[in-house]
Amino acid sequence: MAQHTELLVATNNAGKVRELSQLLSGALLRLRLLSEFEGVAVAEETGTTFAENAVLKALHYSSHAGLLTLSDDSGLVVDALGGAPGVYSARYAGAGATYAERMRKLLAEVDSTGDADRRARFVCVIAVADPSDNTVVTFDGVCEGRLAHAPRGAGGFGYDPLFIPEGYDKTFGELPEQVKHSLSHRARALAGAVRHLRERFAGQAPA
Ligand code: IMP
Repeated sequence: MAQHTELLVATNNAGKVRELSQLLSGALLRLRLLSEFEGVAVAEETGTTFAENAVLKALHYSSHAGLLTLSDDSGLVVDALGGAPGVYSARYAGAGATYAERMRKLLAEVDSTGDADRRARFVCVIAVADPSDNTVVTFDGVCEGRLAHAPRGAGGFGYDPLFIPEGYDKTFGELPEQVKHSLSHRARALAGAVRHLRERFAGQAPA
């Protein structure tokens, strides 16, 4: 990959910015952030699937910035809730709710189903939009696990204190961040995106 390929990491979620920047740190890209651009309207997430939302965000921000742009749409899918909150994970319990409130609501809803099944998964779709040839491609990542009975740990972001990845007894809120980075939905989707970027930009002269 050309050492100076610029990539806009297009998310306003501070937790995602941190994780994506860490995960992309060895990828020989010059990362640009939305905070560097003034007056860009927030993309409306009108899609009903992770892929639709990832694509519409990547296209929206790449058209504003004129840069190769990466967007992430992700969420928590809970079997006992028929897949909720899913694409609505960020808006669950209302736009102004805290994550403590969202996790409390989630646990109450799972309890109210009477279902003992606590299986859940984090899902991530990453879209990469390239304004130079009007292409957009997507990459999926899934991390299987189960819900804890109460939030545990202060690491990560969002629903991490509630999510126990398969093969572990601790939540993403308790596990070291290197563990999350080695198996998360975001890391898995990003691995596909980085492979694509390497192939796409291999051998090109630095910008
Ligand atoms: P969106 O992709 O902007 O719609 O937001 C995704 C939402 O899903 C986040 O705001 C979190 O609530 C949740 N989510 C996605 N990935 C993670 C993660 O790695 N840990 C915890 N929560 C996550």
